[in-house]
Amino acid sequence: MSFNQSENQNVFQQIGGVPLPDTSLPAASVLVTDLQTELTNENRFRALIEHSTDVILLSDREGNYFYASPSLERVLGYTPEEFIQFNGFTIIHPDDIPSIAQAFQTLLATPGYSETRQFRGLHKNGSWRWVEATATNLLDAPGVQAIVTNFHDITERKQAEEAQRLLATIVTHSDDAIVSKTLEGMITSWNGAAANLFGYSAEEAIGRHITLIIPPDLRAEEEEIIAKLRKGMRIEHFETVRVTKDGRNVDVSLSISPIKDRQGNFIGAAKIARDITERKRAEERRSMLQAVSDLLASSFDQQIMLREIAGLIVPAVADYCRIAIVDEQQQITDIKINHIDPQQLELVRALYEQYKGRANTLHGVQRILETGKSDLVSTISGPFLEHMRDNPELLRIIHALGLQSYMGTPLIVRDRIIGAITFSSIQPHRHYMPDDLAFAEELASRIALALDNARLYREVQQARDQLAIILQGVADGIIVYDKNSQIIYANESAAQLTGYASVEDLLTAPPMSTVARYEVIDEQRQPFPRSQLTHLRVLAGEREPEAIIGYTYKVTGQLERWSLVKSRPVNNEQGEVIYVITIVHDITERVQAEHRKDEFISMASHELKTPVTGLKGFTYVLQRRLSKQGDEQSLHYLSRMDAQLDKLTKLISDLLDISRMQTGKLEFLQAPFDLDSLIIETVENVQAATSTHHLLLEGKADVQILGDKDRLGQVFINLLTNAIKYSPQAGKVLVHLSRDEEHAIVRIQDFGIGIDASHRQRIFERFYQVTDPEGKTYPGLGIGLYISKEIVERHHGWIEVNSRKGKGTTFSVILPLLQG
Ligand code: ADP
Repeated sequence: MSFNQSENQNVFQQIGGVPLPDTSLPAASVLVTDLQTELTNENRFRALIEHSTDVILLSDREGNYFYASPSLERVLGYTPEEFIQFNGFTIIHPDDIPSIAQAFQTLLATPGYSETRQFRGLHKNGSWRWVEATATNLLDAPGVQAIVTNFHDITERKQAEEAQRLLATIVTHSDDAIVSKTLEGMITSWNGAAANLFGYSAEEAIGRHITLIIPPDLRAEEEEIIAKLRKGMRIEHFETVRVTKDGRNVDVSLSISPIKDRQGNFIGAAKIARDITERKRAEERRSMLQAVSDLLASSFDQQIMLREIAGLIVPAVADYCRIAIVDEQQQITDIKINHIDPQQLELVRALYEQYKGRANTLHGVQRILETGKSDLVSTISGPFLEHMRDNPELLRIIHALGLQSYMGTPLIVRDRIIGAITFSSIQPHRHYMPDDLAFAEELASRIALALDNARLYREVQQARDQLAIILQGVADGIIVYDKNSQIIYANESAAQLTGYASVEDLLTAPPMSTVARYEVIDEQRQPFPRSQLTHLRVLAGEREPEAIIGYTYKVTGQLERWSLVKSRPVNNEQGEVIYVITIVHDITERVQAEHRKDEFISMASHELKTPVTGLKGFTYVLQRRLSKQGDEQSLHYLSRMDAQLDKLTKLISDLLDISRMQTGKLEFLQAPFDLDSLIIETVENVQAATSTHHLLLEGKADVQILGDKDRLGQVFINLLTNAIKYSPQAGKVLVHLSRDEEHAIVRIQDFGIGIDASHRQRIFERFYQVTDPEGKTYPGLGIGLYISKEIVERHHGWIEVNSRKGKGTTFSVILPLLQG
């Protein structure tokens, strides 16, 4: 026994199992040789058990284990020593316990009986493993006396079975059509969704060739697919078209995978097909609506627009379509017809001809225009054809066209029917449904909007063209600048007046090119400062500046044009200047006439000066003679004559001054003088020549002025003589002298007729005279104030005028003081 024991021990040590209980041999009844044979057999048997991939367990009738083979650790993770601590049920999944318990009872009841069960056993790591166990009741078997259970792991097999079951369920219940086929293209499986999508039942499809559902023109595509699959490639979301049992084309998205046998040989393909017809249709509709909306922005030409829209509708929505537009007189003015097959266009035209003028038609453009309602005939059949029974020609055309379905909808903008659009289908499977009509109506509303926009655009364009024609015809130049002083519009006259051959030239000319070719001058023939250009002055904030600008052609210096230029701003709602409109009025003639007049005056005054000077000399000689002779009467006449001559001399010298001023040749002395003395002297002189008015001098300035004393004296003489001249009813004129920090002020106040506000600025213009009924009676040339203003301004001073009509006038001469 001890030998046995040690023998056993060795074996166990080698294998690492749990020692078998010593129930095996009733030693005394066995011969030694037999015993040895037995022992050898047992060892062999033992080694067999220990090496078995199956797990072998021995337990008693209570289910308590006393032996576990070492392979247990591989299957459930426990060492045999750990495991025999458990009762047999400890590791069984609770859900499986009832069936196992029942089987165990059966087993116990029948010695030698054997039961096989599958159940989940708890792995040491906490996971459940599927095992298949066969337990045999060997409780009565001599030398065994145990329940012998052998089991092995079937988790993977179970999972595979589970997966397959799941897959089968998925395939059956999938919304996507799943089809498999052999390499030769024979259909081997066909799920319910495939039956729904393609119209063939599984029985009809399985065993048939896949070309069953491939449109003839796409057969080549199938070969390409097979070629790819052979290379082991998977094809994902490949969009194509398949054909159904009833001949309809459906858009599908395909995913195709190769099917291989266990050896990895390619034996077929599995296809998942998803019906994307709806999606495609939705996409197409969306893009069509978008395209129509884009037309709003891209084209304002009705013809182009209708052509493009018809091109969008056929073939996407219709096989032929018609767009009719109604004008203000309710005439159908414009029809765009399109057919998928251009050769059929004639037929379509003929069809519309048939409808034309048939007021009582139930369908068609006229009907839609009359009712303003959409029309849908899903299927062209009996009732539809009925109403045209009396028109065999119409019937013939409809048959010839193969019309299957029809819908139409009015084009309405702002509650006005502006046209209609009809869609016709000749495809057996395109039947318009209410949702198609809803789409057509949406499309129509956009088309109507686009057409209305085109109409508004045309109207605006017409108005603009008319305006352009008017502006082009205007003699005045019109230039519109943007806020960056870029020219954005100019008419023909503007181009001519600013020295360009055409508007084009003006618009494309580089900036300042006018300056390059022309001398731009002001009225005094001085270079015209750019900053004084009127449009720039508007941009700088002035309201309505104007300027006289002369252009002298640089090359010859002869050609000269003069313009009166006025600018005014165009403001936006925020009051910002967005444009400047400049009107260029040609005043060349006027300026030239003035030049001629100036030249004449200059010449005439020169010519007059000599004889008058001569006369003055002779008067002097005559006066001396007559004095000697004591001829008082003659002397009296002579002094009257002399006074007239003085007036004449003054007139002539004024005219000469004006000429000199015009040409910038009037010379001024620059010398300091005492203003008070000048005023006193002047007042005395003027007083000496008048008996009607008292000149009253008040205040004093007590200042030195730098300038031309005689010329300034001339100013005060002018103002004083005017004050006397224009206050015939008054007896006095006030002269007031004063000063402030920087200026001397001489005020000459009369109590005469006054000057109306409307004339106040203009009296300083050359030859300007107030032509009021009262004013008319006063003689003069209207040059005194002009000369006075020029002289004062040459002394850097200015003249102000205050006046009330009928009450009198005050002129104030303000002169800067001599500095230092
Ligand atoms: P004139 O030779 O006509 O006086 P002026 O240039 O001196 O020319 O004056 C221009 C016009 O101004 C005159 O015609 C007159 O109508 C008006 N005027 C000038 N001074 C006075 C004044 N003190 N009172 C009223 N009107 C005046």
